[in-house]
Amino acid sequence: MDRVILIKYGELSTKKGNRNYFINTLYNNIKNKLNNFDVAISKDRARMYIKFKNEELDSIKSVIDKIFGIHMYHIAYIVESREDDIKNKILEVLMMKTFSTFKVETKRSDKSFPRNSQEMNNILGGFILKNIDNVKVDVHKPEVLIKVEIRERNSFIYLDSYQGSGGYPVGTQPKGMLMLSGGIDSPVAGYLAMKRGVSLEAVYFEAIPHTSLDAREKVIKLTEKLSKYTDKINLHIVNFTQIQEAIYKYCRDDYCITIMRRMMYRIMDMIVKKYKGFVIINGESIGQVASQTLTSMSVINEVTNVPVIRPVACLDKLEIMDIARKIDTFEISILPYEDCCTVFVPKHPVINPKLEVVLREEAKFDYQEMLNLAVDNINTITITDNEKKFSDLL
Ligand code: ATP
Ligand code: MG
Repeated sequence: MDRVILIKYGELSTKKGNRNYFINTLYNNIKNKLNNFDVAISKDRARMYIKFKNEELDSIKSVIDKIFGIHMYHIAYIVESREDDIKNKILEVLMMKTFSTFKVETKRSDKSFPRNSQEMNNILGGFILKNIDNVKVDVHKPEVLIKVEIRERNSFIYLDSYQGSGGYPVGTQPKGMLMLSGGIDSPVAGYLAMKRGVSLEAVYFEAIPHTSLDAREKVIKLTEKLSKYTDKINLHIVNFTQIQEAIYKYCRDDYCITIMRRMMYRIMDMIVKKYKGFVIINGESIGQVASQTLTSMSVINEVTNVPVIRPVACLDKLEIMDIARKIDTFEISILPYEDCCTVFVPKHPVINPKLEVVLREEAKFDYQEMLNLAVDNINTITITDNEKKFSDLL
């Protein structure tokens, strides 16, 4: 096969000290994700190369499109780094196309190659003009841009560029625990955190029988979607029923949501310690609902010292929805099952809760035992990308 997928790292290349670590993580992630394909993957300091089977190219592309840390990639023809080989391949490739203007852009990284980049542009441009009728050079807006990369052993020729998903390879940052509800915002928050390289585990609070198994199924489906961007995600399911019922039994109505959120944060704090995470991640967005005003957030956040990352804090709902559509979680998120927050919503939740009031209300029942019990009885399922599982079976 004379084509390879040529991957450019992008933002990675600014990480001087960590460069190898980033590249190796990306390499392992790609290898792992392409486990079921017939590929050969190699890397150097600037590029990664994937040899592939033609019939698998489309499927491979759709996997690669979800791997963070890839800035740009190309389907490149590969030849020996000799002038004639480069010329012949360019001609062969261009013969398959109809076009009237072109431009050649050469990048010579192998300085032992006898001609420099500009000389090669002129030589290759002249060669094309001589061998293909009715075409001319347009350096500003060419119909066909022919890129040539001359490296030590091989050279690469490509016409097409594909945008990668950007970000950093998942796993270059330690574990973050995502509070994953069935809503629109939290899957987007998880996606954005992974994009910065965070390894993700998810936590779902359920209050059966007030919430249904369908609601849980929905969260599992969302986790499956998120797992496409990493290898697997552990989903921790917390039974929140006892705590939630106690809050509504003992505490004043308008403070129930604030207190419920504080209990969730307390459990998250314990979970971060138990499973050796570093941060809590959630889908809170400033001002979206009563519990997400800055006053609410500060009163709620008061129960933990663990950093809370809120990737969608400053996005509008419409912007969040756009991302949800892009990552294919939107249609799942809008399925109508209640989650534990919506089941118990009071008529007038407090917008500017006071800490003294919260503390007074919380003192009305012994919640610590309940929190311990909830954490001790977590049910964890490991979720991998469905497509991969499916092809594993074949
Ligand atoms: P979402 O659309 O993600 O459900 P939301 O706008 O409905 O968010 P809230 O219900 O106030 O907002 O929840 C804010 C955040 O708290 C959620 O984005 C999520 O990270 C977390 N959260 C809420 N409910 C749960 C739950 N049942 N399990 C896990 N996390 C939850
Ligand atoms: Mg919600």
